[in-house]
Amino acid sequence: MTIANFATTSYDFTPYVAARNWIGGEWQDARDNHGSLDVINPRHGKAMSTVVMSGAADVDAAVAAAKVNLKAWQERPVRERAAVFYKLRELMHRDIESLTWLVSHENGKTYGEAKAEVLKTIECVEYGCSLPNVAAGTQLDVSRGVNCQIDYAPIGVVAGVTPFNFPLMVPLWMLPQAIVGGNAFILKPSEQTPLSTIALAELFAEAGLPDGIFNVVNGGREAVEALCDHPGIGAFAFVGSTRVAKLVYGRAAMSGKRALCLGGAKNHLIVVPDADLEVAAGNIVASFTGCAGQRCMAAANLLAVGDVEHIIDEIKLRAAAIEVGSGIGAINSSESVDRITGYIAAAEAGGADVVVDGRGKAADDGGYWVGPTIIDGVDPDSAAAKEEIFGPVLSIIRVKDLSEALSIENGNPYGNASAVYTTSGDVARTVMGRAEAGMCGVNVGVPVPREPFGFGGWNDSKFGAGNITGWDGFRFWTRVRKITTKWALQKDQNWMS
Ligand code: NAD
Repeated sequence: MTIANFATTSYDFTPYVAARNWIGGEWQDARDNHGSLDVINPRHGKAMSTVVMSGAADVDAAVAAAKVNLKAWQERPVRERAAVFYKLRELMHRDIESLTWLVSHENGKTYGEAKAEVLKTIECVEYGCSLPNVAAGTQLDVSRGVNCQIDYAPIGVVAGVTPFNFPLMVPLWMLPQAIVGGNAFILKPSEQTPLSTIALAELFAEAGLPDGIFNVVNGGREAVEALCDHPGIGAFAFVGSTRVAKLVYGRAAMSGKRALCLGGAKNHLIVVPDADLEVAAGNIVASFTGCAGQRCMAAANLLAVGDVEHIIDEIKLRAAAIEVGSGIGAINSSESVDRITGYIAAAEAGGADVVVDGRGKAADDGGYWVGPTIIDGVDPDSAAAKEEIFGPVLSIIRVKDLSEALSIENGNPYGNASAVYTTSGDVARTVMGRAEAGMCGVNVGVPVPREPFGFGGWNDSKFGAGNITGWDGFRFWTRVRKITTKWALQKDQNWMS
């Protein structure tokens, strides 16, 4: 392979190669050069690499390269296409340490969190391996001598755009279903975290994926808009903030593409007095502090119903004990630190109590940090309660009963995750039946549906139909062909002639 392995086994600052475009199986400079950006290691706050910022000419080149081997790829049986993912899985296990450290360095998450991301990525790859066993179409004799059959046909050249917070996993939410489904893929990773994709491109090549079936175009808005507009691209998926998801959903649809765009979140967790202390406190702390709160499934608002003081006390104790640097990773940028601390300051100025304060905490290496922060007595109409903070901040909103909790939760425009902590079946059933969210949990802080179930929220957390992972993902990246056949038995009938 052409690119050096990421050989470090520590958090020590380690530079890495520049992120260029992977088009037709080659690393290329941008044709439409919109300059380059530094790729910052957030733990150290300094550049470990650079990324090219591409535009329409690069998207055009990627579409042309994607078409070269597309027909031959589609002619391979699905089992042969999936075989590449079996090999990819093996290679990812072989390289698990270097992939883990690369994710950690470019994103800022801890080693343990980065390893969990790589393992979850491998689970996504495994779903791709299983597709030959589950992707059979159905057929039925719909009348005497008349048979209807469906099969799942590829779309052609397709594209995906991903965010900074899971640089390896989110691309693999899309790639197995799309590529095993017979498509050629163009990925535009986040310009803040484009480095794991370098390793991924080379692993795909080593796994035997033909040139041009996986391409990477790096960049920002110009590259994304070119993907939305390109007439040679048939389907477009996006994962990122709601502001951008809404824009690109409209733009991709305007050019006739099928589009699925996942946006931001403001996740509510309801805790009631009968909740199990250990389960509730442990889960809630892990949910709002994991990946430094930079997860679309992270707990954001804790709706505390009635007297749950003993649970809140335990949450405070556990959160305050987490060490910045070892127990919680870095924030992606200094701008994000300002945004997060701005929300905390505004809540405090509005009369809320900062009962665990992560401001001003820093690890030894420099970089961008906010420690676990809990704000109590948050006004449900304040910014801290309503907007996505995307940091390790838990806003506690005191409510008198379940109805008030659900009315606050459902008044929020997002609808990604919802959870309730209770030992009462009735409370669990009420919340699961009424919460306006696509992914719900009972005694689960991060209710991510794992394969074969699909990932996706409701309302302002997702634009488009279906979900991004699992079987729904396969359906998104394929077209259903309906074949109706009339057999000899039917020749004396007039029906459907
Ligand atoms: P972002 O929206 O800033 O960027 C996502 C992608 O969009 C990047 O590749 C970026 O280059 C591109 N982009 C940015 N501005 C654009 C513009 N004006 N036009 C076209 N493209 C543009 O998101 P982020 O900061 O990278 O990621 C964090 C956000 O992603 C949070 O809101 C988080 O909740 C969300 N997220 C959602 C999910 C989900 O499954 N719903 C998963 C992960 C992250």
